[in-house]
Amino acid sequence: MIIDPDEQTAARYRKSRDRQRSVAERLQSLRPLQSETKDGARIQLMGNIEFPEEVTHCIELGADGIGLYRTEFLYLDRKSPPSEEDHYQAYCKVLEATGDHPVVIRTLDLGADKVNSSLDNLIPQRVNPVLGLRSIRVCLQDLDLFRTQLRAILRAAVNGDVRIMFPLISTLLELRQAKMILAEVVEDLEEHDVEFMREVPVGMMVEVPAAVIRIEEFAREVDFFSIGTNDLIQYTLAVDRSDPSVANLYKSGDPAILSMIAQVVAAGIKHDVPVTVCGQISSDPMFIPLLVGLGLRQLSVTPHSIPELKEVVRNITIPQAEHIAERASNMEVARDIENYLRGELKTICPDLVV
Ligand code: PEP
Ligand code: MG
Repeated sequence: MIIDPDEQTAARYRKSRDRQRSVAERLQSLRPLQSETKDGARIQLMGNIEFPEEVTHCIELGADGIGLYRTEFLYLDRKSPPSEEDHYQAYCKVLEATGDHPVVIRTLDLGADKVNSSLDNLIPQRVNPVLGLRSIRVCLQDLDLFRTQLRAILRAAVNGDVRIMFPLISTLLELRQAKMILAEVVEDLEEHDVEFMREVPVGMMVEVPAAVIRIEEFAREVDFFSIGTNDLIQYTLAVDRSDPSVANLYKSGDPAILSMIAQVVAAGIKHDVPVTVCGQISSDPMFIPLLVGLGLRQLSVTPHSIPELKEVVRNITIPQAEHIAERASNMEVARDIENYLRGELKTICPDLVV
């Protein structure tokens, strides 16, 4: 807050306000337009949501669907665990608002940064929760919890285009166990004559370095990949994503992260498995040319960033993005890569660089 600003300061802020208004108006006008590059390549922008109430706004902003529904918030929001009906109602609400668009429902990713005190029995406090009992590990230990959610997803899937995604998969065995439980749930629903959708695509988050190293093997056993850069950066660089004292070491533009994304995209192309990026990196306009240049055609992002990301997409061509990705990939340190990407964004969409 500036109390009693002098004329020069006031003029500077007026100018900045006018600029922001005109950018906001321009971005608003992009809403009905397709997210495609200048040379006509379609780049799907999906939304990341945590609550069903967010869907309508997300679709209004022009999302091509929901690329990440973080269902653990269904759990964190209450004192007792959600029932199958609670899950079912939440999913139906999301599907009703998304219409024909796809919805990727991620199974519970509880633990680490997603905890509350009502979970103490399920997830004991540990010194290093990020490496402990979290996410798919919790589900594979508490099968009732897992089955309840899977039943609800399969039942709700009758009402729309649903895909199931397992988080934090580190080994093939884990993926196979999760798929086996899903198959058991299918059998059970069938046996009891419950209405449900049998053929739901099953994918996994790629957010553990071990999964990237063995990505070709995983590609043979899933229908899609979604790269979770938030955790992938944390585990690759050994930097706690929620620790402010090491925030300066948490670098989305690290060359190791770029190589990993490239490796997953290559495996996806080779095995015909679609790849999305749903970590925060894809909500940052300066990374859009890089991600498109690395071969991504689908991104799942924070809903409010969709208009500005669409503006970046509509102002690049594929060869230009590929050139940017190649140059960035040849750089050795994160700082140079990020400075370079910021500079490129300034040329592509000057208004988006503050
Ligand atoms: C990620 O890790 O990048 C991700 C999208 O999942 P979350 O942020 O919910 O852990
Ligand atoms: Mg994650």
